[in-house]
Amino acid sequence: MNPPSIAQNLQRVYERIAAAALRAGRRPADITLVAVSKTHPWDYVAAAIAAGQTDFGENRPEEAHAKFIENPDAAGASFRLHLIGPIQSRKAKIALACRPVLIHSIDRLKIARKLDALAGEQGVALDALLEVNVSGEASKHGWPPADLHWQLPELLALPHLRLHGLMTIPPYDPDPETARPYFIALRELRDDLASEHPDHDWSQLSMGMSHDFEVAIEEGATIVRVGTAIFGPRG
Ligand SMILES: *Cc1c(COP(=O)(O)O)cnc(C)c1O
Repeated sequence: MNPPSIAQNLQRVYERIAAAALRAGRRPADITLVAVSKTHPWDYVAAAIAAGQTDFGENRPEEAHAKFIENPDAAGASFRLHLIGPIQSRKAKIALACRPVLIHSIDRLKIARKLDALAGEQGVALDALLEVNVSGEASKHGWPPADLHWQLPELLALPHLRLHGLMTIPPYDPDPETARPYFIALRELRDDLASEHPDHDWSQLSMGMSHDFEVAIEEGATIVRVGTAIFGPRG
């Protein structure tokens, strides 16, 4: 996999995003593509930036920090970094040091409180989504929807955390249609929460990966997180 095919892959993914959006009567520009660069070297990111890509996703804060913040090659590059993986409490500081444009994966009260406190100490606000376990699979991170309903008042009251919506990862199945009910469930949960708490922003739905992003867009995704279809398989 070398840089020329990254540019071609990106173009192809944008075409597929546009086609899925138009099928659903949506505007392609209303969908943000996060290029998931985890495990791949900076060179791959640089090739994507050269092709016009701005938003990148990493799932481990240390790797994100090493690649995008500490790396001298990244200095001066223009990008927006999304943290999309579960954050352990002891990694909260380094997560914040990544200056993420959005954390997609707030999955429990403890990490929400910790990030809020750190953001407060540093005088910054953190934009974030809540990760929901819509499938109920034990292996998945995220809130069971029932818990979210009663824990939401505390989450919404955290002064330095600004929530913008929900994220989910459905159980993996090579057939993208299998994911559709989970994407619908996330959208419906969002609609419920938005009517219960109308004074907050619920606009963002982060759902869809390489094999199912088109279905996710048909069901309302505003952010898709795509790695393999852009950068190739991870080692
Ligand atoms: C790795 C990852 C992705 C991208 O997965 P692909 O199948 O490579 O597109 C998306 N979201 C999260 C949370 C991930 O960890």
